[in-house]
Amino acid sequence: MNRVETALIIGGGIAGPVTASALRKAGIEATVHEAYDTTANDTDGVGGALTIAPNGLAALGLLGVEEAIRDIGQPMPDMVFENGRGRRLGKAAGLPGLPPSRTVRRADLHRVLHDHAVAQGIRIEHGKRLVGVDEAPDGVTARFADGTTAGADILIGADGIRSTVRTLIDPAAPEPQYVGLLGFGVGTYAANGAASGPAGVMHFAFGKRAFFGHWTQSDGSTALFCNLPWPEPMTTAEARAVPAADWLRRLRAAHEGDVPAEEILRAATPEMLLVAGPLELMPPLPHWYRDRMVLVGDSAHAPSASSGQGASLAIEGSIQLARCLRDIPDPTTAFAAYQRLRRPRTEKIAADAAKTNNSKAAGPVAKALMALLMPIMTKTVMTPEKMFGATHRHRIDWDEVVLP
Ligand SMILES: Cc1cc2nc3c(=O)[nH]c(=O)nc-3n(C[C@H](O)[C@H](O)[C@H](O)COP(=O)(O)OP(=O)(O)OC[C@H]3O[C@@H](n4cnc5c(N)ncnc54)[C@H](O)[C@@H]3O)c2cc1C
Repeated sequence: MNRVETALIIGGGIAGPVTASALRKAGIEATVHEAYDTTANDTDGVGGALTIAPNGLAALGLLGVEEAIRDIGQPMPDMVFENGRGRRLGKAAGLPGLPPSRTVRRADLHRVLHDHAVAQGIRIEHGKRLVGVDEAPDGVTARFADGTTAGADILIGADGIRSTVRTLIDPAAPEPQYVGLLGFGVGTYAANGAASGPAGVMHFAFGKRAFFGHWTQSDGSTALFCNLPWPEPMTTAEARAVPAADWLRRLRAAHEGDVPAEEILRAATPEMLLVAGPLELMPPLPHWYRDRMVLVGDSAHAPSASSGQGASLAIEGSIQLARCLRDIPDPTTAFAAYQRLRRPRTEKIAADAAKTNNSKAAGPVAKALMALLMPIMTKTVMTPEKMFGATHRHRIDWDEVVLP
């Protein structure tokens, strides 16, 4: 069996460009095909911010991108857990020996990953929405909505939680699961800066009726996100069809009495509101690959936003996939090795995030109990090392040979 020499990557979000760069490092030529016309668009949930954890930063370091992320990212070493009145329930300081997590604007992250890939000579084609594939024993041809096609030895689905490639690999694959929360962000709220105290601390607060997070940005302004319990499933398009002013009214009602969410939302305008839409996770998939097609990132294992790990896991997975294809000539055997390396870790992190989702949507009695127990738990069974050690300290040895 000839070694894989070329790859088509579907999706130019986070996993797409990172996989292309990692494959290049492994000596495999890849082209990225992205459905949207531009790289950093603010219209498809690409707005807002996300946090890259130390494990994601270390994985990017293997490709030489860590420094560029440091330039665009705000250091966020500490986390504080609060009740809705701003009373501290617990603190998780950054782990000793690790660099701080970095909070980045999603559009900046896309730009850096895109530019890094292009600088290595990788072709990223926009306006290429995959609609189907033709498979042959020695390669795959992708069909795009604009009528064009492209061929390579293998096809990699980095096309996110609503992956088309996943359905092409397995038409019976499970669908993303709604976790009962809608996500919102108030991006750049400069009017009353530092409502969150010193920069470098991410605050997670169990408000009376909804969960919220807030932090002071590098420029002194305050950023806020809200997770609103919403039992009825809703698509992103449906959520965005509701006027932002209506959502803002609902969020103000949900956060009445919450500190500092009430104050921030009082001064926010509908234009400041980012409707991220339903928070979802991918249930464990029976198959991450079939023949010459494989999944990477959210298409395979979206752990839900509550994990704070979706992007970091996508980056780790991209690099592990490239190592497997570098060392194992038969693509299906390489994909099996990749799935074996990644599945236990991604499923554990997703399962932990599912518990966090439940606590965010908890009723008043469960919340009161949590407020009582959390101060003790964060000093005993929920120390930062116990909560984040295995996740944040994970490192990939690029030089180690992967065995089938
Ligand atoms: C509100 C919210 C907050 C989050 N916060 C964090 C956080 O703090 N930290 C963290 O690590 N993660 C966070 N995440 C998760 C993180 O955003 C994802 O895990 C990450 O974006 C996954 O990257 P990806 O490249 O696999 O998928 P995506 O980023 O979704 O990229 C997929 C790409 O594929 C393209 N595409 C889709 N279909 C096709 C097609 N048919 N043809 C061609 N292209 C296609 C899309 O346009 C897109 O560009 C958050 C998610 C949400 C919703």
